Amino acid sequence: MSVVGEKLQPTLFERSRPGRGGGKIPHPPKDALDRIPSAARRATPPALPELNEPEVVRHYVNLSHLNYAIDTGFYPLGSCTMKFNPKLNEWAARLPGFASLHPLAPDEIAQGTLQLLWELEGALAEISGMRAVTLQPAAGAQGELSGILMIRAHHRSRGETERDEVLVPDSSHGTNPATASMAGFRTITIPSAPDGGVDLDAFRSALGPRTAAVMITNPSTLGLFEKRIGDLLDAVHEAGALAYMDGANLNAILGRFKPGEAGFDVMHFNVHKTFSTPHGGGGPGAGPVGVGDTLLPYLPTPRVLRADDGTFRLERPGERPTSIGRLRSFVGNTGVLVRAYAYIRAHGAAGLREVSDDAVLAANYLRKRVGEAYEIPFDRHCKHEFVASAAGLKKRTGVRTLDIAKRLIDKGFHPPTIYFPLTVEEGMLIEPTETESVETLDAFADALISIAAEAESDPDLVTSAPHTAPVGRLDEATAARQPNLRWRPMAGAEMPCPD
Ligand SMILES: *Cc1c(COP(=O)(O)O)cnc(C)c1O
Repeated sequence: MSVVGEKLQPTLFERSRPGRGGGKIPHPPKDALDRIPSAARRATPPALPELNEPEVVRHYVNLSHLNYAIDTGFYPLGSCTMKFNPKLNEWAARLPGFASLHPLAPDEIAQGTLQLLWELEGALAEISGMRAVTLQPAAGAQGELSGILMIRAHHRSRGETERDEVLVPDSSHGTNPATASMAGFRTITIPSAPDGGVDLDAFRSALGPRTAAVMITNPSTLGLFEKRIGDLLDAVHEAGALAYMDGANLNAILGRFKPGEAGFDVMHFNVHKTFSTPHGGGGPGAGPVGVGDTLLPYLPTPRVLRADDGTFRLERPGERPTSIGRLRSFVGNTGVLVRAYAYIRAHGAAGLREVSDDAVLAANYLRKRVGEAYEIPFDRHCKHEFVASAAGLKKRTGVRTLDIAKRLIDKGFHPPTIYFPLTVEEGMLIEPTETESVETLDAFADALISIAAEAESDPDLVTSAPHTAPVGRLDEATAARQPNLRWRPMAGAEMPCPD
């Protein structure tokens, strides 16, 4: 537990004492107030808390100790690739040449950044087997939207406006159907086969003249490589539809599988997952999109172009009328892209392949260890992540996956992703990444196994967890729908955030 102890500390407003203060303005002119026109002056002082400087500093530092971060502990969130982020990348992203460049700087003085972006596009194209890449989308979800808008533009250019359906497997990330509906398509959900892959027969019978696109995550959100990918892609193209690959799980297949060569028409990269950027607190991220020849004309604008003399420039507005247009400001979240570039260059091709090999090894090791106490619904070679289930434990003891997640907090671990994919009862999606030592993996497995034993011997201990966190079980639905973001005095209440 942190230095704050087991309770949340009072807010700065509650610590405030009238007349207390920290800063002093040196030598204010005697008539300072008189110099401000009376209409612009406050009638009453602002209701700001009054504290001295150490109180303010300690307040924020102590709050920061309540954070759980990849720099303080293991973070096994499945589908998120919470790998350690080399500090070198932070240095690179903060270099003033990149960090201080104005987004609207003329091309002549932005050559270094443009070159980096151009080279990063090339590296991502090579890694994915795609023809070209846009770095513009701000996250994977926006990458999906860009890809599906390009697919829509392709069908429209051929007059095939009856194609209004997007097929999505039932294990897919929620952003997939959300993307399809934002782009004006109807989502058709395809069930999984018993082996966890896409049900090929169901898939074939859903394909038809109304299919615009198919969105496939490979490896899937169950951590399984789609063995029937060749047959799936052939069927998609025979039906005149295009294939989108959700590349969030790229960390598992670097140097092993190139989606573009396999036949995917478009894919996104979550560079904040695969190529390192601190994430999990809500951003920023970047979701570059790679396309094959079919969708090349529709890439968002502006693209980074390289002239014959080796100089770089941004595409001008209107220069490529087939483009779906601009998705966000400048060419993307440049700081995140600098980190990705640094990560890719530091590893090189052989190093990136090793990243994936080690991520897969770590996941399979953990799958075996966690399998000592939990069911593993698809207990065969996995890629970078796997699903465990507490369905049997729940039947015997009443302890649910949510309880296990809360109890893990007491044991010093961030919980894994829970209840996702939705297709697995009492599921836990666990992704260790390549950056964790075998000792860390063992400590995590031991914690999960000890919770299973506690569930059998003393289920109340688990169902009432966490016991050491400053807050326990929050009403997450209300917190998400009616977030309480502003401090208001609470008469009679000592704690600002009643549990
Ligand atoms: C993370 C993720 C996304 C969404 O990516 P963001 O960058 O968070 O928008 C989409 N699909 C899968 C499978 C993911 O894991």
